[in-house]
Amino acid sequence: MSMAAMIEVYCPECADLRVFEQPPCVDGHGMDCPEWLCLTCGTALLIGVPVELREQLPRTFSSRAA
Ligand SMILES: [Zn+2]
Ligand SMILES: [Zn+2]
Repeated sequence: MSMAAMIEVYCPECADLRVFEQPPCVDGHGMDCPEWLCLTCGTALLIGVPVELREQLPRTFSSRAA
């Protein structure tokens, strides 16, 4: 379990592309943990959640079978 996943995404703090590392998840998300840390400034970002998709959907729309 020593292989940390790393991705390169835009960091709002650094205002540039930075390498992000996924810290050990303590919330039980496992491989699906959306938390990533910028190795340069330490900013935590939530990546992996479909933010763009969510913005396109009407917020009031919810179809849950009661
Ligand atoms: Zn997590
Ligand atoms: Zn950064």
